[in-house]
Amino acid sequence: MKTIFRSIFILIIAIGLLAIPACQNDSEINAPYKALIVTGQNNHSWEASTPILKEILENTQLFACDIAKSPAQGEDMSDYSPIFTDYDVIVLDYTGDAWPEKTQTAFLEYVDAGGGVVVYHAANNAFPDWKEFNKVIGLGGWGDRNEKNGPYVRWKNGEITRDLSSGRAGSHGEQHAFVVTIREKDHPITKGMPETWLHAQDELYSELRGPAENMTVLATAFADTAKGGTGENEPALMTIKYGEGRVFHTTLGHVTGTGRHPAVECVGFIVTLQRGAEWAATGDVLQEIPIAFPGHNSLSSWDKFRPYTLDELLECMEEYMPGDSRVCLQDLSNMIRKASTDTDKLKAIELSLIDFLKDDATDNAKNYVLKELSLIGTKASIPVLEKLMKDDDTKEMARFATERITNNYTN
Ligand code: ZN
Repeated sequence: MKTIFRSIFILIIAIGLLAIPACQNDSEINAPYKALIVTGQNNHSWEASTPILKEILENTQLFACDIAKSPAQGEDMSDYSPIFTDYDVIVLDYTGDAWPEKTQTAFLEYVDAGGGVVVYHAANNAFPDWKEFNKVIGLGGWGDRNEKNGPYVRWKNGEITRDLSSGRAGSHGEQHAFVVTIREKDHPITKGMPETWLHAQDELYSELRGPAENMTVLATAFADTAKGGTGENEPALMTIKYGEGRVFHTTLGHVTGTGRHPAVECVGFIVTLQRGAEWAATGDVLQEIPIAFPGHNSLSSWDKFRPYTLDELLECMEEYMPGDSRVCLQDLSNMIRKASTDTDKLKAIELSLIDFLKDDATDNAKNYVLKELSLIGTKASIPVLEKLMKDDDTKEMARFATERITNNYTN
């Protein structure tokens, strides 16, 4: 009995040890750069947004993210002092109580010496009275900001204009999907993006004011008066140079409460954040713009904040019927096109498609897969095709695929 207890004890210890790596923090992730998300207070749900930002950045495989959570609003902030210099980029998801002076100084020194910063959405509401912080973010809103904080910045008559007229800072109309227009096409962050693209439902931040020094407006969005907007082309994406530091500022990405968050599931938001963070950290962008990037009239979203894997795409297609969304179908086709020169990958895809055709799925889904299989199939596909030729609803496409694959072999 004693030995049994001892065995159980050893087993528990062993399981405990195995479990440790999963619990350890993010520096375990093997990525070239380190990001720190500063959070813990916000007029939005930072509990929802911070894990999403972390996931989006880590999905690049460029960043390992740590989180610097502040004390709750009203609590003692005097010990809140993240070590900014340990990181390649600081992501601000914070608006709330003032940081202690030593933390403010450390932050400014970090940026001035060449640190990277990403300002995300309501982080530009923070610290209206902290003059240097407002230089870092370029533009801010709310918090009783007004003309004393700097000009409104808008795109007018083909250029960026600065408007010093008096008035409030920070507003938005009702949430809606809107077009983002790239104004700096050659910047590393925006290079290769469609000139205009449709961003999913979000707040369109308007009337931001700030020193706007050493600031480049990468993209604007037109705040339609029909949606309660200003009728102006408002800055949406910006970069700011502060000392040697690089700052990327996105006004996009409203998140609150639970459930789906269309603004941050938008591929346009995800990709600009990922590229903006890479640029802030390194001064360059090596990430590719995905085929799934939205177009002028076409929304594109990733509910997992990344493209689906092959298995997820096939699962998503199982119930496909005419009239349903074709996003997963199209993504499967794109994945296959992208793999066209990688024979190992094509082979793996073929095997998954064969399995899919053996399982339960709608005939419409199977016929779509058969069309794709006709392009990449080999002899390995023939048995499942022979079986599907016996089914009235798939026989035509199965025969077509068989002929095409056989031709590929004989030619
Ligand atoms: Zn918001």
